[in-house]
Amino acid sequence: MQLDTLWQFMQVDMEADGFEHTMRQSANRQKLIKQRDFLKDQQANMKKLENDVAVMQDRLEAVQDEADRLEKLLASMAEEMDKNPPASAEDAQKQAESVQKLLETLQRYETELVKMRKDADTKDRQQKEIRVRAAKTKMEFDQLKVEYDREFKADTEKLQQMRNRTEQEAKNLDPKLLAKYRSIKQHCTPPMAKLVNGQCSGCFMSLPSATLLDIRNGDRIVECDNCGRILYDPGE
Ligand SMILES: [Zn+2]
Repeated sequence: MQLDTLWQFMQVDMEADGFEHTMRQSANRQKLIKQRDFLKDQQANMKKLENDVAVMQDRLEAVQDEADRLEKLLASMAEEMDKNPPASAEDAQKQAESVQKLLETLQRYETELVKMRKDADTKDRQQKEIRVRAAKTKMEFDQLKVEYDREFKADTEKLQQMRNRTEQEAKNLDPKLLAKYRSIKQHCTPPMAKLVNGQCSGCFMSLPSATLLDIRNGDRIVECDNCGRILYDPGE
């Protein structure tokens, strides 16, 4: 009977599928994916930090230039005052005020520069930490990759053997039946279900008596109305 053969074929086919699934779930593979994602994240973090530092560096230089300019201005004002002392108390007051204003601005710049240098140090430290962590992960990744490649090669060979066996078994089947099996498998796996107590053992729906009769007659392939699996009655 074709369905017995198809059922036998399905066992081999499912075993191969199961093995392929296990390969994908491999602990080493999952770990490698995690490490790879981590490395990608660290690369993104590094890029962001580098950008931040570049922007900060520009700002730092600009503030530094401005502070230098103000210092020179103060020096030349002092020199000017030495040469031409203020003529009146009012002039002296005005000059003192503008000097005071410049000094305050300069003080603000200095404060900002100190803060920016501290930020730059922090970011520099962060970059170093990321580099160390990423290098460690990369090393682990490379080691594990060697191990995984070996595992993958062996598993692929084993899977190929299983697939070859499936191909071999498939030769015993009516191509039309096999095509039906494969088309059901696209949306429902395993694609066959045993008939147990008048129920489809794939979806546990009770089958109408007409369907049961069709199965018993064995004239045609009967699919479950609910899940679409090929119903198989192994008999007594
Ligand atoms: Zn069903």
